[in-house]
Amino acid sequence: MRFTDKIALVTGAGSGIGKCIALSLAREGADVVVNDLNVELAEGVAEEIVSLGRRSMARGADVSVEKEVISMVDRAVEEFGRIDLLVNSAGILDQAAPAMKQRTDDWQRVIDVHLRGCYLCCQNVAKYMVKQKSGKIVNISSIAGVVGLPMRNAYSTAKAGVIMFTRVLAVECAHYNINVNAVSPGYIRTPMVERLILGGKFDESDIIRRTPVGRVGLPEEVAGAVLFLLSDTASYITGINLPVDGGWTAFGSYGDAYRLPSPGKE
Ligand code: NAP
Repeated sequence: MRFTDKIALVTGAGSGIGKCIALSLAREGADVVVNDLNVELAEGVAEEIVSLGRRSMARGADVSVEKEVISMVDRAVEEFGRIDLLVNSAGILDQAAPAMKQRTDDWQRVIDVHLRGCYLCCQNVAKYMVKQKSGKIVNISSIAGVVGLPMRNAYSTAKAGVIMFTRVLAVECAHYNINVNAVSPGYIRTPMVERLILGGKFDESDIIRRTPVGRVGLPEEVAGAVLFLLSDTASYITGINLPVDGGWTAFGSYGDAYRLPSPGKE
């Protein structure tokens, strides 16, 4: 049990990757504050955590609204005494559109949830971690923050901002014994991606063909990397962006050139 009696706050933990991280932390001994804009989902996950024998609390704060974040963090510290671990996983999809046709309100909402939300949660939790002189933070970015994805300018820009904010916070907080890292998932089977596949926005076979390991990833595979970075084993790692993408960002091919052979047909 790597996280016995640690106190964690996970945003966007009512669904997908955040939910998987929250439950994985609880299975390894942590008490978890479960945040999600959809408070019913958050309450469901908090109940699961309590049934695992850990303490939990559901909070429906919108991570992009400063007063809601401050109140969530203060309430968590009031209840549990401190926060040792923070994971920022709250996120929304953007309206896929070329930058020149993007509606500014849509752009702003994506930037607000992903980048401002990450900044506000880090800032307010780090204040307590500085007093404790310990803490670990993982921000969920994306492969879209590393490469330029057409039609995804808001999402890609926000996620690139998350990676850079992670680096700056890491160097500012290192001497307080606070580690700050980012994890960048590739295509992971969550409700967010299922919606894109079912809505015809993604063709799963394209993802599979473009991903060297030849499949869509699982939330558990992201949670494994996040829990490693939150653990004492990762004490000398700070300011990194760890891709969890089945080799997607390492792969430099295009079109049919250097197409990967199917297993058994080399
Ligand atoms: P998901 O299943 O949709 O979970 C995201 C959760 O965040 C949802 O429950 C959502 O609630 C909540 N949320 C949205 N806006 C919020 C806000 N303002 N405040 C608090 N909670 C909010 O998505 P996911 O696939 O697990 O994604 C989790 C994170 O991983 C996101 O940051 C995403 O960008 C990133 N990511 C995902 C993938 C992937 O392939 N799945 C790849 C790369 C990066 P609502 O449902 O009410 O909006």
